[in-house]
Amino acid sequence: RGKIYLVATPIGNLSDMSPRAVATLREADLIAAEDTRNTIKLLNHFEIRTHMTSYHEYNRTEKAYELVRRAEQGETIAVVTDAGMPAISDPGEVLVRFALDAGIEVTIVPGPCAAVSALAVSGQPTGRFVFEAFLPQDKKERRVRLEALRDETRTMILYEAPHRLARTLAELAEVLGRQRQLSLVRELTKKHEEVQRGSFSHFLQRYADEAGRAEIRGEYVLVIAGKSEAELRAEEAEAFADLTPAEHVA
Ligand code: SAM
Repeated sequence: RGKIYLVATPIGNLSDMSPRAVATLREADLIAAEDTRNTIKLLNHFEIRTHMTSYHEYNRTEKAYELVRRAEQGETIAVVTDAGMPAISDPGEVLVRFALDAGIEVTIVPGPCAAVSALAVSGQPTGRFVFEAFLPQDKKERRVRLEALRDETRTMILYEAPHRLARTLAELAEVLGRQRQLSLVRELTKKHEEVQRGSFSHFLQRYADEAGRAEIRGEYVLVIAGKSEAELRAEEAEAFADLTPAEHVA
């Protein structure tokens, strides 16, 4: 029986490619890549000649079956995405499930992940956190997700595309309050890597006009402080004080 390797690749700086990642890709029978045109550059750089097949969002179910079948026949398959950790806001999740269901061994070659890297450098509390990936685009689903974050006390990590950042910040500020602290972590491991810290109010002012929004370039992770326990308790006490005496008893 073959095996499936999830192989993390750099999120910007090619030197972050681990020696084990290179060896695994070289020795695999097949590389399943999110975008073969993108991954070919990585393979050329590291002189990896392994055959590739595409495995992306749109063929993930049929392709997962095919890859599991090939693993059952003895092939070793390495899975990579365009950047970072497979299966984290990227293809891989379905394949892992199918492979485990079929009794195929799945193993990991760990490496960069934008979410965890951003959290570590963000300056926000790291003890407890939740990963929220990208907020949904559908209006109703987005509202539901935002509301679910209102009383979140853990640090929240979100991905966002640059052209949607200003709008997402405004919507989050509405729910979490303009005073809440956050970090915008940008272009990790690249030339313009930057961590900016401040309140929603600070960022909303900064990106309020065209000139400000023109500064939003590159890849971003939002790392937002959770609601403080003190704030949560104060709000609960306030809500309790608003109840009628009969409701207090109930
Ligand atoms: N699987 C990837 C990982 O492990 O980080 C995430 C893929 S997701 C489709 C792409 C998003 O990750 C971007 O929109 C951005 O929010 C974040 N991202 C990826 N590379 C980044 C970098 N170098 N700096 C900051 N954020 C990055």
